[in-house]
Amino acid sequence: MSRFSAIAALFITLILCLPGNSGGQFFSRDPNAAIYRAAKRYNLAAVEKVDPGIDIDLRYSVTSASGKPLYLPNMPCLVHKSTGEKLKKVNAQLRDHGYALKIWDAWRPPEAHRALWNAVRDPRYVVPPSKGLSWHCYGISVDVTLVKLDGAPVLMPSPFDDFSERAASNYRGGDAEIAKRVTLLQNLMKNAGFRTIESEWWHFDDMKATGGIRKVTAKDLSIPMPR
Ligand SMILES: [Zn+2]
Repeated sequence: MSRFSAIAALFITLILCLPGNSGGQFFSRDPNAAIYRAAKRYNLAAVEKVDPGIDIDLRYSVTSASGKPLYLPNMPCLVHKSTGEKLKKVNAQLRDHGYALKIWDAWRPPEAHRALWNAVRDPRYVVPPSKGLSWHCYGISVDVTLVKLDGAPVLMPSPFDDFSERAASNYRGGDAEIAKRVTLLQNLMKNAGFRTIESEWWHFDDMKATGGIRKVTAKDLSIPMPR
């Protein structure tokens, strides 16, 4: 290799190693860094940055009611920034009780919401696209549960997306400890400004979200979706 081509090869290697449009974060290894920067323009924040103590387990990257994932495995967990601040507050209060929040779903791209509706087609559980979009599509609804502070799971009334009576937000049957946990979660979330909905104990809408609430698509943030 001539000296010129060796220098050219070194230069090209350096260019390829740099993250795109780093915005001062050279050598950042976060694969979602570019998405987070784009999300900021829509007032969406990454939960892992708002509060690293919140567990994230996006269930729709594993499966959905359709039996196939709605998200790819590295789907970012985003919420409206004012919703994120409320979640951080609730998570801090939960710590005193030995629990942390775990997020099952947060901002949901309209592309995924339409796929979910096509799978479920039950307006009790999914907002029909003909009636508009779910608040998830604006980043102001979250699906959450509790875990122990070390991330260990705890029993709650039902698993995520259980379409039975046990999913109801006022279901308290069976077990006093479970009833106590779901009541604690609902009370803290309500005090922070969220409301519950009848059909799903895990779903909360931020009634006090402030500042630039907008519909954001996966395309807006260059997030690839499953085909
Ligand atoms: Zn939900």
